[in-house]
Amino acid sequence: MKQKIKKSGVNYIPTIGLEIHAELKTKSKMFCSSLNDPLEQHPNVNICPICMGHPGTLPVANKVAIKEVQKVGLALHCTLALFSKFDRKNYFYPDLPKGYQISQYDLPFCKEGYLDILGKRIRITRIHLEEDAGKLIHPAGADYSLVDFNRAGVPLMELVTEPDIATGKEAMAFAKELQTLLRYLSASDANMDKGQMRIEANVSIRPEGAEKLGTKVEVKNINSFRSVEQAIAFETARQLTIVKAGEQVIQETRGWDDVKKETFSQREKEEAHFYRYFPEPDLPPFRFTKEELDGLKSEIPELPWQRRERFGREYGLGEKEIEVFVQQKDIGEYFEKVVSELGQGLAPVKLQKLIKLSSNYILTDLMGLLQKASVEGEDFLITPENFAELVLLIEKGEITSSIAKQVLKEMFGKGGDPSQIIQDKGLAQVSDTASIEKIAKEIIKNNPKAVEDFKKGKENALQFLVGQLMAQTKGTVHPDTAKTILQSLL
Ligand code: ADP
Ligand code: MG
Repeated sequence: MKQKIKKSGVNYIPTIGLEIHAELKTKSKMFCSSLNDPLEQHPNVNICPICMGHPGTLPVANKVAIKEVQKVGLALHCTLALFSKFDRKNYFYPDLPKGYQISQYDLPFCKEGYLDILGKRIRITRIHLEEDAGKLIHPAGADYSLVDFNRAGVPLMELVTEPDIATGKEAMAFAKELQTLLRYLSASDANMDKGQMRIEANVSIRPEGAEKLGTKVEVKNINSFRSVEQAIAFETARQLTIVKAGEQVIQETRGWDDVKKETFSQREKEEAHFYRYFPEPDLPPFRFTKEELDGLKSEIPELPWQRRERFGREYGLGEKEIEVFVQQKDIGEYFEKVVSELGQGLAPVKLQKLIKLSSNYILTDLMGLLQKASVEGEDFLITPENFAELVLLIEKGEITSSIAKQVLKEMFGKGGDPSQIIQDKGLAQVSDTASIEKIAKEIIKNNPKAVEDFKKGKENALQFLVGQLMAQTKGTVHPDTAKTILQSLL
């Protein structure tokens, strides 16, 4: 009784370690020359006797895949193994034709690295390479299952973290940053919805202050970033209820049900020795030289966190803007090209203003158009040079923002020079007061009600008249000019 009271007064803290798999986007599979084509729709076409596990066939390791994993390891500050090997992990599954998976047990290609997220360092235990299994398809209502081996033998990277993660939010941030990194390295497209990146979360809770970690539960089938957070929140709460009831959490593997938003028991935890790991006898071990591994550093591009820092320093953008440019690498690169076009011979103060303007137009108007175009399959044809010119026209006040939007739309699918488009479409800003006054007078004449309202002090009425003037001039008059002229006439 005493103990129970004490227990319910204790604070419990969650501990999380992640195991993340990612399919590498190599040309061919891990141990044979069958195509690695995740887009292939026809089942069982990218297969051969090797990835089908026929007797007498021998695997040959894909050098590119190994290099990719080593590059991921370097980017994540890992120690790369000078000596490494593959091991056989024995288990039966209908989509695993060999009856074993070639994986790595005690000598992974990379170990002991880290990734910083949300100002916190998450240690990485290891990154190893293995092969993916095929896919089982369970047709609705049928009393049989189908198997597609196109994916069998695709290079699969597995990254394991130390239990350094404390919340679902941190887990999600880690997974997202890893996804971004894999894309920067062109190692994997890492789309979670296509199964190219798969996350397993190991979750336990322990009383605050306790050294020893609690019993962990491994949660599988997490298929989106949002589910990572939800699954961890659910599992933490479930374990808390168990512990607070004075019972014990059992070590097991649980699945995540994305519809019910809960975890369910799949099986009690298997242990390494059940798999009867042994060194893969069909593949000789690898020795790498230090020079060889150091040489890979030159193949590592600017990394997401480096770009984040540089965009802040060089362009003085806000955190949110930077994040879009970092996540959407192509857009970030486009932005940089526009800035470099603008940068020619301008004073820094003026350039800063143009940078901000470019960033705004890219992140709002251009991204909006891009989103719509990707749905409609339209091409994007604005060169950075023409985009920069448009930004200059806006900044000089030669066109209003409403005209800029029209010009952008026009340029989007056809390309072309903004000045030319403005001329051809008669969109140039009208600053010739006499002609604006003429139209304003017409509008005053045709809207006696609004004029009367304005004279009674209704500010809205003036806005209405400004709107009329803008509409009649197709937005070529600056709203401030329209307002001043109407006010003076009234
Ligand atoms: P196993 O041998 O069961 O696979 P590992 O020690 O290899 O266990 O750890 C697998 C993952 O579980 C790692 O990400 C690790 O950080 C995490 N982990 C280990 N112990 C715990 C724990 N008590 N609570 C939460 N996560 C844990
Ligand atoms: Mg494990």
